[in-house]
Amino acid sequence: MERYQGKSVFGGIAIGCLRLHRKDEQQVTRKKVEEPAREKERFLAARDTAVEQLQGLYEKALKEVGESNAAIFEIHQMMLADDDYLDSVTNIIEGQGVNAEYAVAVTSENFSNMFASMDDEYMKARAADVKDISERVIAVLSGQQDGLLQSDEPCIIVADDLAPSETVQMDKEKVLAFVTVHGSVNSHTAILARTMGIPALIGTSLDLDAGLNGRQAVVDGNAGYLYVDPDEETMERMMDLRREEEERKKLLLELKNKESVTLDGKHVMTYANIGDMKDLALVLENGAEGIGLFRSEFIYLESQTFPTEEEQFKIYKTVAETMAGKRVIIRTLDIGADKQCDYFELAKEDNPAMGLRAIRICLTRPEIFKTQLRALFRASAYGKIAVMYPMITSVSEVKKIQEIVAEVKRELTEEKISYGQVEQGIMIETPAAAMISDLLAKEVDFFSIGTNDLTQYLLAIDRQNQTLDDFYDSHHPAVLRMIKLTVENAHKEGIWCGICGELGADLSLTRQFLAMGVDELSVSPGRILPIRKIIRETDTTAL
Ligand code: PEP
Ligand code: MG
Repeated sequence: MERYQGKSVFGGIAIGCLRLHRKDEQQVTRKKVEEPAREKERFLAARDTAVEQLQGLYEKALKEVGESNAAIFEIHQMMLADDDYLDSVTNIIEGQGVNAEYAVAVTSENFSNMFASMDDEYMKARAADVKDISERVIAVLSGQQDGLLQSDEPCIIVADDLAPSETVQMDKEKVLAFVTVHGSVNSHTAILARTMGIPALIGTSLDLDAGLNGRQAVVDGNAGYLYVDPDEETMERMMDLRREEEERKKLLLELKNKESVTLDGKHVMTYANIGDMKDLALVLENGAEGIGLFRSEFIYLESQTFPTEEEQFKIYKTVAETMAGKRVIIRTLDIGADKQCDYFELAKEDNPAMGLRAIRICLTRPEIFKTQLRALFRASAYGKIAVMYPMITSVSEVKKIQEIVAEVKRELTEEKISYGQVEQGIMIETPAAAMISDLLAKEVDFFSIGTNDLTQYLLAIDRQNQTLDDFYDSHHPAVLRMIKLTVENAHKEGIWCGICGELGADLSLTRQFLAMGVDELSVSPGRILPIRKIIRETDTTAL
């Protein structure tokens, strides 16, 4: 067995034979021509044919991978209409009196080198596009067919690199996975592979001359490995993983667009927890009904200094727009304890989990808090944004927050900056908040129970301390009773109550949470559908 590591572009397990894909080497020679004007016409006709072929590819891609991914073939058509590109080719033909193939090849080389030397990653990636369109024109000029990569048996395609046009031409039924030696994670080929949902590895250190064709292989797109001639144990392990994956996919297909409603008709919101905009694709892929916890502190943690209002606004706006009217609950910064940020210059504390953290920082340094609130309220004009405050322990904290929020809204109104209706919620993650949840419920629009911290404070067990794992009983009756109490108090005041801590994703408790009347479960995207399945199979009147 041989094992090769690559960068994973899309996860999943593929088992099958390797098939080596080599580009037809287009040998272009420089030839003098008698009539450059006719050569120019020949070039323009070939260009038109190439544009027609690209239109065909665009239509195929549109059906298979959607409009945004198909757009690359529109861009390729536009590149073939670009004046600089056309001028370069025709100048070489006319100026040097040479054949069109040669003029296109030289232009391709010059332009792709120019793009490759740019600093911008997006522009760098365009070098491959110029080469791709130029090879197409040269193929037309030299009478080659627009060859599809054909294969009778489904197989794992191995190549040095793949152009988007090659990728999309492949028969999806016949391609199990892609493995390439080159390529970038952000290339359109990688994007297409992701959208086609095919396991794909790039940057794999393979020797393409080592007789790979036809050999049995496994691509583990999750771990980023290619196994050639896998041994029995690896094969069994991979087959198990593939089975699990197939079950997950089946679940996905069945439940993705279904509502999270119990047999007796109670809707329980199944939301996603995210820490980053990068998680949004998974949120959509797993059919989340909204975002229940956006840990905004990651924006601060990833920054070298305080993120500006504008920087934050852009992020919140993108998330709100992407979620297209679904609720997006953004938690204000929860810095402190295990999430330390140097530029906050927080004093060293003996017991940071019980120190100056989260809302306590915001209330002592309102200028930081107001910047975030302004960004959040401005972004609320672009979607359904709700704001949630962490580490609340008292009604007076909520009142102070309300004053600052009122100030921010007043300022925005004076500045004629629009904002939407922003629901205001709090996290119930301290025992104090749970115990006075009857009073807090009068002040806010919703509760979200942070079971990670609630358990830590309730059981007096540092959640970071691994040596205490045996004592950290997340199913402790005290925790479950506090959740029940909080839900009851929320409902008495007519507000909803969810869970966004890790316990919300514990499938062994889902039915118990439903019995308590929990209205929302916000979990990591991959857990949404298993939870939805239980919700849909439960009759809460029988609990
Ligand atoms: C929690 O405490 O349960 C929670 C969701 O917040 P975090 O894990 O970010 O502290
Ligand atoms: Mg917490």
